[in-house]
Order: sequence, then structure tokens, then C-alpha cells
Amino acid sequence: MDCRHVIQRMWEYLDGEVPPAVAEGIRAHLAECARCNPQYQFQFRFLRSLVRAHEGQDAARPEFLGKLRRTLHSIGDDLT
Ligand SMILES: [Zn+2]
Repeated sequence: MDCRHVIQRMWEYLDGEVPPAVAEGIRAHLAECARCNPQYQFQFRFLRSLVRAHEGQDAARPEFLGKLRRTLHSIGDDLT
């Protein structure tokens, strides 16, 4: 998987919308690529802050936040 491909699908990946095989490829690429990794960390932190900002207002978008939270947990709470 090349950088262009990874960048293109990064939001999908963060949303948990890519098939497992693709997610695996992206994960492997991100672990090694000095170019994509900072971008991934930025987007990951952005999403996480979004989730935290809505903490306590779960009634508004429970499914959205629940899904995001699960996704963030599955792909990289190690980034904290
Ligand atoms: Zn890359």
C-alpha cells in the first residue's frame, strides 16, 4: 500500500469503515511511514478530542460517539 492510498482512506480507516484486510495494510504502513504517521496522529487526536468534547452530551449522537470511541480504542489508544 502506498502513501497516496493510505492518506485517501485515512478518515475511512479512523471511522472503522474499511475492510479488515485494508485496515491491516494501513496499520502496517502507518507503523513504518514517517510521512503518513504524523498525519494519522493528527487526525486521530482530532477525532479523540471530538469524542471528549461531546462526552456528557451522549444523548445527542450516541451511536456516532459510541462507534468512534470503539474505533479509537481498537486502533490506537497507544497514541495517548
Ligand atoms: Zn506513507
